[in-house]
Amino acid sequence: MKEQKYPLNWQKDDYSIKIFCSIPNVATGILITAGSALVVVDPGDGILRDLNKEVGTAKILGISDVFITHGHHDHIGGVWSFLTYLRVMNKKTPLHIHYPKGCIEIESIYNAFCKVYSKSITYPILLNKITSSKSYRRHNITVKPFEVVHKELLVDKQTTKQVPALGFRFTYNQKQICYGGDTSYCANLVNMAKGCDLAIVEAGHDDSVTDDLHMSHSEAEKIGMSAKDYFLVHVPE
Ligand SMILES: [Zn+2]
Repeated sequence: MKEQKYPLNWQKDDYSIKIFCSIPNVATGILITAGSALVVVDPGDGILRDLNKEVGTAKILGISDVFITHGHHDHIGGVWSFLTYLRVMNKKTPLHIHYPKGCIEIESIYNAFCKVYSKSITYPILLNKITSSKSYRRHNITVKPFEVVHKELLVDKQTTKQVPALGFRFTYNQKQICYGGDTSYCANLVNMAKGCDLAIVEAGHDDSVTDDLHMSHSEAEKIGMSAKDYFLVHVPE
């Protein structure tokens, strides 16, 4: 299997991505830079620490967009502190949060944040509930959301339930980065990752384990190898 050591970096001219970490049940954190635009993907626990070290306060205040693949804690655990930091540091420009329809975690955090800090939020927070797979533009980035198949275990630890979950393909200057989020092997990700400049694919299982929550290494590698370059992430440590 391809060895990964965090942080993972990829760059083509002024388009780059840094994956601070992607550890199942602990935390994910991703920063994409496209020209002068900075966007964050899946701000798990520790995102603020990593961003602070990477780009510093002034650039953190300039972050315009946050993309959420799904509401599991290892993908959104840093949202509250991120929102609060921007308020404390007096951000003025809008923050757009893109998330899948039905992701109650993001709406709950947003509602609680607005309630707690109703009189002291310094910047507009604009929720973009994604309801379709239509492409749209943010700055010079074309964003293509696509549905993936991600499930969670219910309290009996056997029954599974699908959660609202997306992958994203980000295109800037004709370069494509495809991030599948958490997913089992699914046709949408196979199609979207193919031919991309970079595919980021979760490999949450050993080949010996079989369930429909995550992908095995060989499934993930197969998808990764259909792109020009790839990272396998979300590998149990
Ligand atoms: Zn998940």
